[in-house]
Amino acid sequence: MLNRPINSWGAGQTQVVAVAALAFLSFFSLSGTASGQSGNNSVNATDSPAAGAQSQTSVGQQVQLEGQLEVIYQDFKDGHHRLLYSLKKSDGTRVPLKFADQPPTNHLSGDHVRVSGQMSGGSLLLYSGSTKSGSGSSGGTTTSGDASGSTASSIPVPNTFGAQSTLVILVNFQDDAIQPYTLADAQNMYFGTGNGFFQENSYNQTSLTGNVVGWYTIPVSVATCDTSQIAMDAQNAAAAAGVNLSAYTRYVYAFPYDAACGGFAGASTVGGNPSESWINWNSPGSQLIDHELGHAFGLWHSHSLNCGSTATCSNGTMVEYGDNIDTMGYPQGPSPHYNAYQKERLGWLNYGSSPKIQTVTSSGTYTIYPYELGGPGPNALKVLQSSDPTTGTKTWYYLEARQAIGFDAFLTDGTCEPCYTQNETTGVLFHLGTDGNGNSGELLAMTPSNPPPGWFDDSLPAGQTFADATAGVSFTPTVVSGAGATMQITLGPICAPAAPSMSVSPSQSQYVASGTAVNFTATVTDNDTSSCAPATFNLADALPSGWSGAWNAASLSLSPGKSGSATLTVTSPAGTADGSYGVNVSAANASSSSYSGSAAATYVINSAPLSISLTTNQSAYMPGQTVGIGVSLLFGTLPDAGASVTVTVTSPSGRAATLSGATGSNGVASLNYKLSNHAPAGTYEVKFGTTVKGASPTVGASTSFTVQ
Ligand SMILES: [Zn+2]
Repeated sequence: MLNRPINSWGAGQTQVVAVAALAFLSFFSLSGTASGQSGNNSVNATDSPAAGAQSQTSVGQQVQLEGQLEVIYQDFKDGHHRLLYSLKKSDGTRVPLKFADQPPTNHLSGDHVRVSGQMSGGSLLLYSGSTKSGSGSSGGTTTSGDASGSTASSIPVPNTFGAQSTLVILVNFQDDAIQPYTLADAQNMYFGTGNGFFQENSYNQTSLTGNVVGWYTIPVSVATCDTSQIAMDAQNAAAAAGVNLSAYTRYVYAFPYDAACGGFAGASTVGGNPSESWINWNSPGSQLIDHELGHAFGLWHSHSLNCGSTATCSNGTMVEYGDNIDTMGYPQGPSPHYNAYQKERLGWLNYGSSPKIQTVTSSGTYTIYPYELGGPGPNALKVLQSSDPTTGTKTWYYLEARQAIGFDAFLTDGTCEPCYTQNETTGVLFHLGTDGNGNSGELLAMTPSNPPPGWFDDSLPAGQTFADATAGVSFTPTVVSGAGATMQITLGPICAPAAPSMSVSPSQSQYVASGTAVNFTATVTDNDTSSCAPATFNLADALPSGWSGAWNAASLSLSPGKSGSATLTVTSPAGTADGSYGVNVSAANASSSSYSGSAAATYVINSAPLSISLTTNQSAYMPGQTVGIGVSLLFGTLPDAGASVTVTVTSPSGRAATLSGATGSNGVASLNYKLSNHAPAGTYEVKFGTTVKGASPTVGASTSFTVQ
């Protein structure tokens, strides 16, 4: 068993080489049924043989290659992973495939494919593996009608039923010929515990049979880690010992821990016939085996979706190993069941005579049978979450009622640390999964107060409701017990209340004397979804002790999406010291006060006298010039911003003109007085008019200039 720190396995990202400059792609199947992706692929529609391109290695050279796809996961004990793609050509050589964008998730190892890209350093660089279209000159779309065999986009993936004839080859190294466990240990782990895991997971439709052979010492140094070489030498050693390799459809190569492998504990092809898995560990741990063989059956990882404080979102973070109650994720210790999305891909649910997944298309009460038991079902529900507007590809909610049964017994045994809260058995478990994308399964946190990694309360408890207003569905488990779950599911427009947004104006009062009444306007916006009824929002204020606040309305009634305003008149007690004081306002939904919003403003008391100064930009002017007049308003040293000012200019002949303006943030208003071409010579008087504050001008409220 791996002892993996939970906060390290969750951090992995797909390790594909970014090749941003590639202007074309692509990747497509010759097997014909992956047409759901073909509409966006751009590829030369040539049928010319690819063999001529095999020797091309220069950067920038576009080549087409054809052969068998190999998809290999490597799972590292420190919690990261690598997903490696290569093309195995007919001569047995391999060309690594490196994708600039998303690698394909609709193909399995062994699929016959043709790829087009640029060679660089012995690898083929491709723009994208699936749906990303190229923009370069080599565009064109094709799929071949040559349908032979199946593709990974079909459900179920191939070779998942019946006895899985598995050959486990124990090998060690010429310079490290140790046998860290016995053949009997391995026999028991693979064909005892492991067989039990697959039988229970598949509802007795699949079993693990076969043999463990070895230990064989292969002519490979422990100082190297060439998994292809290890596989070849292990097969050769077994064949030399008389093992009939062709009698098996799954190969497992197990060897003593090889540090040269960079720390991966296990690796496996994703699908394949034969599938190939590598166990790089000094004990035959069941979880590791069940995980790698899950890849061998055709599974990608089971992820979680981290949306912070909500269960779902459009921009969440996919946590690679985040599903902590799925062996294809990152469980604590034991080997839990694969989730319903994964089992549907394998055909163990919802295919043929397998237990059913019920697709919910109308509102009603639904039951979910305990997930671990085979019937009478349904063992899961699925409800449409969204359809891709371009491709029509559907993403579904998958609902399970997990119980502490069989390989899931650990959910209530309390032996793991950190441990599950056991709400997994008292609530309903939610996943998302997308058709045709094997790498899309995501666990949702239905009590999202604890973000991953570290979710141990994943399920939606009985009595609570989860609503997805965008999808138009709400879920309420009514009863969850050892007999399964009963769900109330409502489809259609969903009222999803939300916190209102709120603002207040002005954000800061003008400078006022203590005791002054100041009006603040609070604006509330109803953010409920459109199908909600109008909501009443109760208004409240929080002011310094002893202050008074009076609303012109106690509440606002608003329809979804609408805004409304109310006025709060705030008065400070006479004699309150100069300073800035907080004025806080809030609005709470009258039917559920947890939906509330707030805003804050500042009330400023300043008792310093207002000083006003007038200046002109020159002392003397000629007729026709413009006189620049500055009006500065200061409370002590603080500018009186936003104040309206008027200034009167009186000519020597007694004609008066009035100018008006407002002070800026520096307390200064700039006014212009245009002298006519016949302006009389003499002294002009400039006098301050009024301010809206009504404060008495005290100093310097006049000036003068001359015209020559
Ligand atoms: Zn893995």
